[in-house]
Amino acid sequence: MSTKFDVIVIGAGPAGYHAAIRAAQLGLNTACIEKWLDDSGEPAYGGTCLNVGCIPSKALLDTSHKFIEARDHFSEIGLTVTGLKVDVPAMIAKKSEVVRNLTRGIAGLLKANGVTTFEGSARVHASRSIEFTAHGGGTQTLNADHIIIATGSVPVEIPPCPITADYIIDSTGALALESVPKRLGVIGAGVIGLELGSVWARLGAEVVVLEALDEFLPMADATIAKEALKQLRKQGLDIRLGTRVTGSEIKKKKVVVAYSDSDGDKSETFDKLIVAVGRKPYTQDLLAADSGVNLDERGFIYVNDLCSTDAPGVYAVGDVVRGPMLAHKGMEEGIMVAERIAGQKTLVNYDCVPSVVYTHPEISWVGKTEQELKAAGESYKVGSFPMVASGRAMASNDTVGMIKVIADDATDRILGVHMLCAHSSELIAEAVIAMEFGSSAEDLGLTMFAHPTLSESLHEAALAVSGHAIHVAGRKRKK
Ligand code: FAD
Ligand code: AMP
Repeated sequence: MSTKFDVIVIGAGPAGYHAAIRAAQLGLNTACIEKWLDDSGEPAYGGTCLNVGCIPSKALLDTSHKFIEARDHFSEIGLTVTGLKVDVPAMIAKKSEVVRNLTRGIAGLLKANGVTTFEGSARVHASRSIEFTAHGGGTQTLNADHIIIATGSVPVEIPPCPITADYIIDSTGALALESVPKRLGVIGAGVIGLELGSVWARLGAEVVVLEALDEFLPMADATIAKEALKQLRKQGLDIRLGTRVTGSEIKKKKVVVAYSDSDGDKSETFDKLIVAVGRKPYTQDLLAADSGVNLDERGFIYVNDLCSTDAPGVYAVGDVVRGPMLAHKGMEEGIMVAERIAGQKTLVNYDCVPSVVYTHPEISWVGKTEQELKAAGESYKVGSFPMVASGRAMASNDTVGMIKVIADDATDRILGVHMLCAHSSELIAEAVIAMEFGSSAEDLGLTMFAHPTLSESLHEAALAVSGHAIHVAGRKRKK
């Protein structure tokens, strides 16, 4: 097998496999090195996202949502269900089957595109030389004109709560529980904590979320975050803000968690504890001393806007570099780097990265929040539309939430779109496209949307920016 390539990609998560496939599509002789082994010790492609992230979490979120719909809401629409039961092992087995199919699919796509795969770990040396160690031993040197590092991230651990096999688990453990814990603690009310807390709360766990910050989802628009907090609490998630976890102890087959809040020191006892306090870039054993690749002060690989590292011809993309830790952000960076290597002028528009929290309702946004614009002293106008006024939301018995469009006061250009509603992970794409094309709120208002759809609520929110929404009663309308 050849040891010299045009491009070697390290890591086959979403950032890496997109980079590898695109490079190969563009005629570059491309290799991809991946070290992931699944539970049965088999090599697995797709990284965190496919194996223990986006996909398995959405499988469990969608399944548990269907359970809640059947248990609590079917009777409202004239459907009677008897004998409804949760079978956690079957649920986990289905999730694992989805993961297996997808990870095998990625292996197949790499192969079909002519990417040479190496299963084992890579270490980067000077002059774009890579020391490759295969699973089971055996080292060889591979060389490339261009290296793309896409080694991703791993969960952050906190000293007060070290991960144990049985009681204190990270997101990976929380995706593989074999039964519903009676009482479940979650540290961190970030995206992962809320999603995993929602899954197990829906399936019957009493869930307490301990969050150090006083503010809920500070990166989301404050109006949306406030309503989302209300809805999640209504669903039974006991979200406690301003609560810092300081210690833990395993006692009588339970986890006793010590924490402090504004009233002082307290403790809570759980059957399981999920630590979901964020993720950190993964560069363990990756960079030899002579690699020329530098890290920033937070441990991310230092890159410029075009994802070039400090070493000529070496790039880094995805979670291992600055920016939001999101699969789609890494995918676009991977594609940008592959296309630039092939001589194209591709850029990533970091102002248009959508964010989604897959709770119910889903919380989705793109662009600036009102609080960011206020802080920057920008003049803006807002149009909102409540889902309760949407015919389609009513027809589908799912009317919680709202859509909010923020536009520049002077130019009407859309600056941000914020959604709390069912299927907003899909609806937000319409806002991303509008913003990517530099749309004004008026442009969206002049666009025809199919009726009846949830998308019409985005249309109405855009019309509401200039006071012309049709389905909102009692609003003072501008001429
Ligand atoms: P990764 O997916 O982490 O892949 C890196 C790969 O590199 C791994 O396969 C690893 O084995 C390999 N590797 C590392 N070092 C080496 C080496 N030295 N040699 C060879 N191979 C190496 N994001 C979303 O956008 N949407 C979601 O809904 C979402 N949900 C999530 C839910 C959970 C529970 C978690 C944990 C994450 C979620 N994320 C989500 C985040 C998403 O998974 C990451 O942003 C994404 O996987 C990052 O992609 P990546 O390619 O940069 O890195
Ligand atoms: P994210 O980075 O979005 O995944 O969110 C992780 C959350 O965990 C952040 O909101 C942190 O404030 C929170 N967090 C981190 N450490 C602690 C701690 N010791 N106790 C409670 N919450 C924490």
